[in-house]
Amino acid sequence: MMKPLIAANWKMNPILQKEAKELFDSVKKGVRNITSAEVVICPPFVYLPLLKGSKLGAQNVSYEEKGAFTGEISAAMLKDLGVEYVIIGHSERRKYFGETDEIANKKIKKTVGAGLNIIFCIGETEEERSAGKKNEVLERQIKKGLDGIDLPAQAGNLNPPTGGISIAYEPVWAIGTGNNCSVQETKESVDYIRKFIAEDMRVLYGGSVKSENSGAYIKESGANGLLVGGASLSAEEFIKIVKSAE
Ligand code: PEP
Repeated sequence: MMKPLIAANWKMNPILQKEAKELFDSVKKGVRNITSAEVVICPPFVYLPLLKGSKLGAQNVSYEEKGAFTGEISAAMLKDLGVEYVIIGHSERRKYFGETDEIANKKIKKTVGAGLNIIFCIGETEEERSAGKKNEVLERQIKKGLDGIDLPAQAGNLNPPTGGISIAYEPVWAIGTGNNCSVQETKESVDYIRKFIAEDMRVLYGGSVKSENSGAYIKESGANGLLVGGASLSAEEFIKIVKSAE
């Protein structure tokens, strides 16, 4: 049985180092005795070196290795900091920063090569959903994003020198809206996604997860974990979410 992965995506929050440390320390304390779930915190890059004692993830990575790429952060740099996970292809990166399936694929290849785990985000927009194109979009995002990747070799957890890949099913219309995807609809998408990946790869759900709905996704949707945005900025709420996966 795969342990559920509960990942916190802090996005571009909080504003101060002091707040980041406080939030991190409270979460660390609250989940310290929990062994039934794997907990990963993904803060902004600048906080990564300051936070110790819990698994860390980055929210983005460069597809370049090193050199004259101003403003970029490489997978090897993250690895050297002790970071274990990288979120790739988040819908906010796709929407606001022009990240395409091809770019996500280049990032995945570099990150796998550096021996880091990946949380690869996919999901349809409201428009695509209402046009009946959800499955088509999911299939395209997975196939293009994971093109050229040896999937069985990437399944499961960190396995140096190559990292493990988890898929996060995040319907765009459910992110940050309070309009979480129903457990039944999530189950249908999770089952569909599994057709295109290796058997023991994790599929997470993300989109307006709160402590009131988190347990149902873990227990009833067939997902192997959660990617939590807004609710991960409250230590109390995030700890409750982690506990709901017990
Ligand atoms: C996310 O950013 O990955 C996310 C799921 O956000 P939220 O939980 O706020 O919907």
